[in-house]
Amino acid sequence: MGKVALITGGNSGIGLATAKRFLEEGAKVAITGRNQKTLETTVQELGPGVLVMKADVTDRKAMKKAIAATVEQFGNLDILFANAGIGPLTPLGSTSIEVFEEILSVNVTSTFFIVQECLPYLNDGASIIFNSSVQNVNGRPGLSAYAASKAAVRTMARVMASELSPRGIRINVVTPGAVDTPIWDATVTTDEDRHTLHKVVERGIPLGRMGDPLEVANAVVFLASDESSFIQATEIVIDGGATGAPMGAPIYKQ
Ligand code: NAP
Repeated sequence: MGKVALITGGNSGIGLATAKRFLEEGAKVAITGRNQKTLETTVQELGPGVLVMKADVTDRKAMKKAIAATVEQFGNLDILFANAGIGPLTPLGSTSIEVFEEILSVNVTSTFFIVQECLPYLNDGASIIFNSSVQNVNGRPGLSAYAASKAAVRTMARVMASELSPRGIRINVVTPGAVDTPIWDATVTTDEDRHTLHKVVERGIPLGRMGDPLEVANAVVFLASDESSFIQATEIVIDGGATGAPMGAPIYKQ
């Protein structure tokens, strides 16, 4: 591949799996994250060739520095995977404005400004990929802010595709269903809770299981590659059939 890729939230879950896949494809990879511990384990896991940077996506100065460091080390960008995201619950009746706005700030506002900041450094013909979620259509209770943020990401990709097509820059979206990553830790406290949650979630998925981060990473690699050269302003849903064929889920088979 020989391309330069920047991944936000590359120290965990889907972002980390994607960093590994890009490396396998021969890309030069830079990642950002916040958690010092997982940033360090990521350096060990991915090796010294990867640029690992501590930067909060809501901190414009830190992100500007991270982008500049990537360009200085590897050259201009061919791939941007705006992946960092959070998903705390925001049930009607007990949600603070701080939590609601933090979700929008991380998932939406930061996604916009990362693209804007990267613009001068994106090669013509580059590929941008956003990470949305099936919650952008599901109406799952307790997820107003997260669902709205992920619908916003999908819509924003369409607008940006119009704006960036003249430069041959493609922008597409991966839309994962339930994927087994640490993001679920926010909703469970014990191993037993986690096991129960998995069982409940799996009953709503026609393929009968949660996804593996690698299964999303493979779609990102495809969208970043020249093999998807005419794919623009669309989304790939990776959810085991949960939104496309919900009636095929195990929950309906009894
Ligand atoms: P994860 O393992 O918790 O990863 C989230 C990543 O985002 C971490 O690397 C985290 O870094 C980073 N991040 C969060 N807030 C950040 C901030 N303010 N600044 C910088 N980095 C930040 O969960 P994941 O499942 O891989 O999530 C990745 C993306 O997939 C998210 O956008 C999520 O909404 C989306 N998604 C996940 C699922 C699923 O079921 N797992 C389904 C649909 C969509 P730190 O740990 O250092 O904070």
